[in-house]
Amino acid sequence: MFDLEKLVRKNVLKLKPYSSARDEFQGQASVYLDANENPYPTGYNRYPDPHQLEVKQKLAAIKQVDVANIFLGNGSDEAIDLLFRAFCEPAVDNVVIPQPTYGMYAVSADINNVAIKSVRLTADFDLDVEATLQTCDAHTKLIFLCSPNNPAGKSIPPAKAEALIQKFNGLVIVDEAYIDFTNHPGFVPLLKQYPNLVVLQTLSKAWGLAGIRLGLGFASAEIINVLNKIKPPYNISILSQQIALEALGKEKQKHDWVREIIAEREKLAGELKALPQVLEVFPSDANFLLTRVTDAKEFYQKLVDKGVIVRDRSNVLLCENCLRITVGTPAENQILIHELSRL
Ligand SMILES: *Cc1c(COP(=O)(O)O)cnc(C)c1O
Repeated sequence: MFDLEKLVRKNVLKLKPYSSARDEFQGQASVYLDANENPYPTGYNRYPDPHQLEVKQKLAAIKQVDVANIFLGNGSDEAIDLLFRAFCEPAVDNVVIPQPTYGMYAVSADINNVAIKSVRLTADFDLDVEATLQTCDAHTKLIFLCSPNNPAGKSIPPAKAEALIQKFNGLVIVDEAYIDFTNHPGFVPLLKQYPNLVVLQTLSKAWGLAGIRLGLGFASAEIINVLNKIKPPYNISILSQQIALEALGKEKQKHDWVREIIAEREKLAGELKALPQVLEVFPSDANFLLTRVTDAKEFYQKLVDKGVIVRDRSNVLLCENCLRITVGTPAENQILIHELSRL
């Protein structure tokens, strides 16, 4: 049986969280003399809502979940870090990470002095459920899945992720940073079914807001409470909250971008495949393409010389001679193809 209390670090379980001025008085008043703010209006002289209620209400409607199931972080990176701090005892616990994947899980583990147990994806970047489970031991608290996967672009078949969630007694984190570019609903609809599931999404990709740093966590109210308890009280600025609210009101814009980017991705994949320098273009459910070329390091440098920057992933496990190319505007993609074809 899954028992969240057993999973949370003891110090976090008994922690009395910081109580901000905006925790101690909630509601409307005409005179605020409780937070040592400057009384003269700059537009930003007041602290932001520590609970980000308006943004969460908007997201709750879009994602069809309750406000209590949403955590907002300073990027997904903050949510990842807080998961380590909430659930992993440094130098005792460990996390299991199928590789290759997003680098932040391992960096965050290292910062928090939490051991990493890596397990390989297959050569086709598929999740090996049995190998992943066998890598877990009594001290494994978290498994990080990334779907669609960065850097491969491939989605994890839902049945495989579910098998893992059902058989593992710690938390399974499914990072869905690129979910908007797929045509499946992702794991948010399964939250009620699985008390050990955490889904991460972000406004950094499809929503076009990498600069405001807003990461989204979805989980049971109990898990969200733990994260809220340990987060810095005012982790999302007024500026970020305002811009997020505005953008979330324009879902059609996001849909239009996504449609355009997917169409460009398919076109770009076709053009890449036609180049003799390109050996393989991996199928992608995301806004980038992983491609194997004849000499990734040389191509990377020559593209840099032309002012075109892609990501050299050739030192990453299973990604020998691979470049990761973000899908740009039609004009940008044309420049890339033009420069690549001249190599
Ligand atoms: C880009 C990306 C993120 C986004 O992180 P933010 O901190 O929200 O910008 C998260 N996970 C993966 C796998 C990514 O590729």
